[in-house]
Amino acid sequence: MKDLSVKARARDWRYLREQEIELDALPSGGHPLWAMLFPAGYSVGMASLGYQVIIAEMRALGVGVERFFPGPFPGLSVESGRPISDFPLISASVAYEPDIRTILSVFREWGLSSSRKVRFDLDQPVFGIGGALTYINPLIFSEMADYVVLGDGERVLDHLVREARLFMKNGDRRRFLEGLAEHRSIYVPSLHDPMILKGHKVHREKNIIGDLDSVRGKSQWIAPSSVFGKTALVELQRGCRRKCRYCTIPASFGRIRTRSAKRILEDLSPLVSVEGVQAGLVSPETGDYPELSELLSGVASLGIPVSFASLRVDNINEEVVSALTRSGRHSLTVAPESGNDRLRRECGKYFSNDDIIERLFMASSMGVRQVKLYFMTGIPGETASDVDDIAGLCDRVRSEARLRVTASVGVFIPKPMTYWEREEMIGERDASSRLKRLKKLFSEGPAKGCRINIQQPKEAALEFSIAWRGLSAGDDPLLPAERRSGAPGPSPEQRSLLLEQLGILGYN
Ligand code: SF4
Repeated sequence: MKDLSVKARARDWRYLREQEIELDALPSGGHPLWAMLFPAGYSVGMASLGYQVIIAEMRALGVGVERFFPGPFPGLSVESGRPISDFPLISASVAYEPDIRTILSVFREWGLSSSRKVRFDLDQPVFGIGGALTYINPLIFSEMADYVVLGDGERVLDHLVREARLFMKNGDRRRFLEGLAEHRSIYVPSLHDPMILKGHKVHREKNIIGDLDSVRGKSQWIAPSSVFGKTALVELQRGCRRKCRYCTIPASFGRIRTRSAKRILEDLSPLVSVEGVQAGLVSPETGDYPELSELLSGVASLGIPVSFASLRVDNINEEVVSALTRSGRHSLTVAPESGNDRLRRECGKYFSNDDIIERLFMASSMGVRQVKLYFMTGIPGETASDVDDIAGLCDRVRSEARLRVTASVGVFIPKPMTYWEREEMIGERDASSRLKRLKKLFSEGPAKGCRINIQQPKEAALEFSIAWRGLSAGDDPLLPAERRSGAPGPSPEQRSLLLEQLGILGYN
């Protein structure tokens, strides 16, 4: 990498751009100009396969798409340093509820309204949203987005780009939105919300691509400054066959679809010449990928190290652990969710504490040194002793499996499109007291010697609220208190109404 001065680094994107390895030769500088915002910093955004894939697909269609991140250089594109004011079209890929808060603050910084109605009146850019959150509850974008692409974005792009080019010629924004609404996987709030309010079916459907081998499914860039470092991401699977009761993936991402190991290995083989690169396998649950053995041995023959996200305990076996340790990785992430078997079964996870110890002991004897364990508090039916069991399990993993343990404890949030969508969420005060108790058990109780990270109850409450009713500029907690609307969180009645409206939209 060229050694730029500190002054130059502070001024623009060049130093990050020059680190990147672009994998496919794709057209650049096309038409129309289109800003693609990721609602987190560069290092997180470049670790998102979905974001990279959509940009690559748009470039393949000849679109002048350029990347924007809230940091470190907000308001300027990564590709050319153009200001956001040059772009008539803005899209964002949204995966998590708190991302919406970031979009509000980015729009404020850019001098743009986050309200579609105000942008229409002021002739500000057209703003579209896609990404994982659209599979679950697109109605939360109804105040903000001019349109929302529902489900898998790849196959909707042809239509979107065709209509956008017409719009660039005729400047007729209303006609643009009407044209977008002709595609069944595009929700246009200005046209569809009045229908939903009258109870008229809108007949939208998530775009679900049957054959994942027919789409890109791999990184366009290796970005060493991303949180995954020098990693090329490849997609294994969409959807999940498991039925964890708190999880949005089984019901909202459609039937399980996989990419073939042959196709994935073809994608990875050009990487053998890239020094120090590793393959990041992307899947809701890597251990469930049906061709995992073939894939891991193929990747090993290429001599490329692998990494993957969290594994179910029942999927940890010698083959998987040896692939990780061979790749120089000595840590694992698993999600027991609860500290005992009864509550874990309630969550839809059918492995026991003894299974956890047995599998982690095996991993430890094969060279794994540390484990990150994900738990939730506030699971329906949780008692005080269930909370204590989290500390007890961590202690067992530390002492019996001989691993360094970091527990990450979140608060259970009932979300739309889950089995537990109508369950209660515990209040902030209750969550604080359960987490406080846990912290004590980690600092001076049985789990002393293990580390703990907790989700702040306020953040969890905000995520719950956004998951059901979105976030308008007036609710943004980043605003000074006197400027916030102070609207209360979603009541059971509001949640029932939202589920009914999702049904009218076409989501069941
Ligand atoms: S938590 Fe993981 S294993 Fe369970 S349903 Fe969700 S993606 Fe599948």
